[in-house]
Order: sequence, then C-alpha cells, then structure tokens
Amino acid sequence: MEVLCPAKINLFLHVTGRRPDGYHDLFSLMAPVSLCDRLTLRFGVPETGLTCDHPLVPENETNLAWRAADLFFTALGQYAPVHIGIDKQIPVAAGLGGGSSNAASVLMALNRHYGHPFSREHLMRMGLSLGADVPFFIFGKPAIATGIGEKLVPYENVIHYHVLLIAFEFSVSTAGVYKNLNLGLTNCKKIIKSFSLKKQGFDVAHYLCNDLETVTASDYPDIILAKKSLVDHGAKGALMSGSGPTVFGLFSDAETAEKTGRSLSQNGKWAVYLANLIG
Ligand code: ATP
Repeated sequence: MEVLCPAKINLFLHVTGRRPDGYHDLFSLMAPVSLCDRLTLRFGVPETGLTCDHPLVPENETNLAWRAADLFFTALGQYAPVHIGIDKQIPVAAGLGGGSSNAASVLMALNRHYGHPFSREHLMRMGLSLGADVPFFIFGKPAIATGIGEKLVPYENVIHYHVLLIAFEFSVSTAGVYKNLNLGLTNCKKIIKSFSLKKQGFDVAHYLCNDLETVTASDYPDIILAKKSLVDHGAKGALMSGSGPTVFGLFSDAETAEKTGRSLSQNGKWAVYLANLIG
C-alpha cells in the first residue's frame, strides 16, 4: 500500500502560553502543502521493520511512523507485522512536520486496511499522543489550530497560492526554540487581533507572522536573507514555518514562482521546492 504524506506550513503561529508540562498553547493557521514523503506499507512480512533513505531519520521503533503502527495495533487489540518504507522528500527537523505527517498517514492507512475500526476523531486523539501536529495531518485541510495544536477548526478561505519553500542544510530542535522564546516578546498579538476581527475574509499573505521566527533567526540570519530574497523576487509575503528553519514564500502566479525557484536554487546556501497549498 502506498500513501503520500504532505508537509505543512504555518501561515501564522502565535504562542499564547506555556503549560506546566512543557507544551505551549498556540493560535496558528496551518495548511498542508504538496511537498510529500512517499510511504510504502507491506503486510504479510515476518517482522515489523522500517527503512528510510534519509540519514537523520531513525530506522527503529523510535521512528514516529513505527510508533504510530504500534499504537494502532495496541488500540486494535491484535498485532500484525508490517514493513514501512519511507521515501523522504520533506526536509527533516525543518518546521514542516514531516515525522508527524508520516505518523498520521500510518494511522490512516492501517485504519483503512483494517476496515475503518476507528473514527477520524478517535485517530486524531491517538495521534496526539505521538505529537502535537499529528491530529492536523489526520484532519488534512487548512485549519485554525488552538490548544497545543489539537483543537482544529477548518479554515475555508485560504487562497491557493503557489508556495516556494527554502530549506537549509542545518536543522533546529523544536524544543530548543520554544525554550528560548520569551513569551513577553511575542510580536504576533496585533496581527492575530486583526485576523480575529476579519475571520474568514482576508488574504493570508498580509497576515504572515510567526512568534518563533526571531528566536530561530537570531541563530541563523540566513532565514531573514531567504525571506528578503523571496519578497524581492515578487512573493506576496514570506515567513518561517513552525520552529524553522524552512522559509516559504507565497506567489500569486506559477510562472513567477517557477522563475524565482530557478533563480534562488543557484544559491548554494539552501534547497528550493515548489509546491501548492492543499485545501
Ligand atoms: P517537530 O515535530 O519537532 O516540529 P519537524 O516538523 O521540524 O519537527 P521532523 O522532520 O518531523 O521535523 O523531525 C523531527 C525529528 O524527529 C528528527 O530529528 C528525526 O530524527 C525524528 N523522526 C522520527 N521519526 C521521523 C520520521 N518518520 N520522519 C522524520 N523525522 C523523524
């Protein structure tokens, strides 16, 4: 069985509080994008295993996809070995939610294979124990996420921009970025307020904002350089996704996005991917 696992971007991400358990409360507009990992599940194998073509991704029971399979079979009350193959296209530890998307896809694929024993809501609850972004990938469409990311309300009005993603060779630790965030210095409050007043009818490109951006960019100034390059080439807006370091730019037309992609990929500092918002 083959499935595609999309990446996500945060069109805005406001951190509203820190919980005693270390998690953070968010107010974020999340959208899936068409840059995808490809997952192959094989049943009827002698034992459970996992292979991945990316050196930073563990090929053992700590992999989020493997953990998702374990969780599913525990909830099902029966166990069958499965082999998971991951063809990684989504940059790793890059703010694009690749591991969470793999986990969500495993839960959904196994649920389909076993005749839908669990509802979508049940799978989302299961997924939350693997990571705060997993429920979003099961939800599968643009959404306003609150709580730690598990409370999701569909957001229908996302304009279908062409998206250029700029990914760096370095990766960042999400936990480290949150640790260095000064909650007194978050700068998205104003933008979120104007969003709340307008609700559905607004152009996301005018409201791009991420409280984590200054934290990550203080260590990696190339993030600011990448954003500037995107805007200089005609992006309607640019932002770092999640805890970074990946930066995205929104383009109204495919031609400008493609041309910019070609031009910016000549810079040896980063890799460029062209995608679409899924919704
Ligand atoms: P986070 O969920 O921390 O925001 P991210 O979206 O930035 O992460 P991921 O690509 O999900 O980044 O990887 C985070 C870490 O999870 C990596 O360092 C990697 O070792 C580990 N990991 C475990 N399983 C996977 C997987 N299936 N795909 C990618 N990374 C995985």
